[in-house]
Amino acid sequence: MDRSYLMNTLEEFSLQCPNCGEVVTIFVDCSVEQQVYVEDCTVCCRPILLTVSCDEFNGINVAARREED
Ligand SMILES: [Zn+2]
Repeated sequence: MDRSYLMNTLEEFSLQCPNCGEVVTIFVDCSVEQQVYVEDCTVCCRPILLTVSCDEFNGINVAARREED
């Protein structure tokens, strides 16, 4: 298994926007193991609540929710 992503601070990750359904690309900071933050969708500009976890076994996991949920 290629774990070279752990060497990089920022990793690209594609997810589906919970607001508009478009696939958007975000950059995940893998120097932090777990984080929750809000990022605006690049397509519809509405906020997406991101729950991001990075670990060497599972790689990058991102859960995207609408901020108001
Ligand atoms: Zn959107």
